[in-house]
Amino acid sequence: MFKKILIANRGEIALRVIRACREMDIASVAVHSTADSDAMHVRMADEAICIGPAPSVESYLSVPAIISACEISGAEAIHPGYGFMSENASFVQIVEDHDLTFIGPSAAHIRLMGDKITAKETAKALGIPVVPGSEGGVADFETARTVAGDMGYPVIIKATAGGGGRGMKVAKSETELEVAFRTARAEAKSAFGNDEVYIEKYLQKPRHIEIQIFGDGKGNAVHLGERDCSLQRRHQKVLEEAPGPSISPEERARIGDICARAMAEIGYSGAGTVEFLYEDGEFYFIEMNTRLQVEHPVTEAIFGVDLVREQIRVAAGLPLSFTQDDLVINGHAIEVRINAEKLPNFSPCPGVVKTFHAPGGLGVRMDSALYGGYRIPPYYDSLVAKLIVHGRDRPEALARLRRALGELIIDGIDTTVPLFFALLEQEAIREGSYNIHWLENFLAESL
Ligand code: ADP
Repeated sequence: MFKKILIANRGEIALRVIRACREMDIASVAVHSTADSDAMHVRMADEAICIGPAPSVESYLSVPAIISACEISGAEAIHPGYGFMSENASFVQIVEDHDLTFIGPSAAHIRLMGDKITAKETAKALGIPVVPGSEGGVADFETARTVAGDMGYPVIIKATAGGGGRGMKVAKSETELEVAFRTARAEAKSAFGNDEVYIEKYLQKPRHIEIQIFGDGKGNAVHLGERDCSLQRRHQKVLEEAPGPSISPEERARIGDICARAMAEIGYSGAGTVEFLYEDGEFYFIEMNTRLQVEHPVTEAIFGVDLVREQIRVAAGLPLSFTQDDLVINGHAIEVRINAEKLPNFSPCPGVVKTFHAPGGLGVRMDSALYGGYRIPPYYDSLVAKLIVHGRDRPEALARLRRALGELIIDGIDTTVPLFFALLEQEAIREGSYNIHWLENFLAESL
């Protein structure tokens, strides 16, 4: 097993990894920008190294700085968390070239899934059902018109290199197609430096269902059921739950087995998430994330496993610590993402946290890097806390969420907490009957 791991990230996810390391008796090295000298992950790690100035490109995304920090500290492996370097195949290659271990899948698998067209083709070849759409990229408007006409409107134009919900445009008719096509390409070019786009059938009322998978890199893989992440604003997840309220045990076993078998076939190593849209009993693959997800704690809650510990074990060459038969769902879990944002516009709201009090008690988990007196720097993601609740069933988890939100105190800054109180009043949330458009409609009507 590794003796020392460097965590190439910040915030709550850096803490999450430090906690796993400590329980495994592995020393942790935090890296940070000058803006994060007072950050919790710096205080909590065994060692901390400043790797550059505030802008991420000069610190958390600086490959030479991260590799140097490994050399200086003697860390043998790097955990990337999510975001930043977590899905950067060339970084993984460089890490390996320095005889260090990347805690995650191979560069080849990251590359395979990083390009959405290749990912979709791979998924299809592995027997995973995909959204109907263009065969590969669509180079010009004339082709787009033919493809969309044959498929039928509405359609969605998506960037091959896309991510984070950017570079996607919906066209409801041929008249809307031209503008949508050109805007999507322009956005893709400026956001990802690659203007290749493809077209998919736009599903009208799907749910976002994602399957957590885990491979040992030696041809064995299991699935850990699904998460329903349909509550989204601007294609960004806001609340996630597991198991999905709309998924039956038979459907879970069917789609889970398809994904696990596909991952076993390619020899996938570590944690991964296969994302689907789910409508009228059918699953349609949209993309795969080759890393730990923000919402992984809901899966940990219902299966009673530590996914970060498992990532570290697999990276060290150990076998999976559970078999498919060991993985039995216990109860229901919900996560809410608490952002430092001011409602109703969700405008970023960094500043000084005067008082911070985390809720506790049975079935409550708070993953946050906040503390009283902490100044949230304006340079990074606005996610400041994840509140995860676990109950014997969904109604108990909802009641626990309301109770825990009531105990939470984050004074001095605005957060998205009021949104969750409002959501708990809604019938669609209580019944679990929402789809990916529900939240946007709710926000348009009520805020
Ligand atoms: P990103 O990588 O940018 O997150 P995804 O492909 O994962 O992009 O899609 C993000 C979200 O966009 C989905 O969860 C869903 O809400 C919406 N979306 C994507 N593809 C479709 C589609 N074909 N029909 C309807 N909505 C879609």
